[in-house]
Amino acid sequence: MIKAALFPGSFDPFTRGHADIVSRGLRLFDHVMIAVGYNEQKKGWIPVEERVRALREMYKEEPRVSVVQYNTLTVDFARERGIHFILRGLRTHKDYEYELGMADVNRRLNPGIETVVLFSEPDLANISSSVVRELAHFGHDIQEFLPAGLNYQI
Ligand code: ADP
Repeated sequence: MIKAALFPGSFDPFTRGHADIVSRGLRLFDHVMIAVGYNEQKKGWIPVEERVRALREMYKEEPRVSVVQYNTLTVDFARERGIHFILRGLRTHKDYEYELGMADVNRRLNPGIETVVLFSEPDLANISSSVVRELAHFGHDIQEFLPAGLNYQI
């Protein structure tokens, strides 16, 4: 049986911090499915189709990574796909309570799905999608915060 993990998030945009969680996740799992969550009410910055397209392009040579979009509860989506692990990243104590709460709720909803949290690389711990969006808004080049090979057409 393939051991797969679902890596859910908004990824608006996907950063070097996210890419690091995927790479390290691949040491633990045979397959990492990046699941780009979207909400019709909160469309975000980069259109979700473009978030998915750019990530598929970036990981096209890596068959152990797939990219999907979803707009349901994460545990329900994982169950539908037959995935038993949710992969998340933790940067600082600020992420801790949120991640703990999510993991707790998800366990209650589906005890068969385990959340695996990886600590961020210290060098990447200050990179967040919201800061990158802010920089882009003010016309700053954001390429240094994005993984090599990720090119959004926006
Ligand atoms: P969400 O909207 O679900 O919080 P994000 O796209 O912001 O989604 O993040 C997805 C996951 O990646 C979360 O677990 C988040 O803590 C983690 N993450 C975000 N930035 C980093 C980073 N720089 N290093 C490690 N993990 C990160």
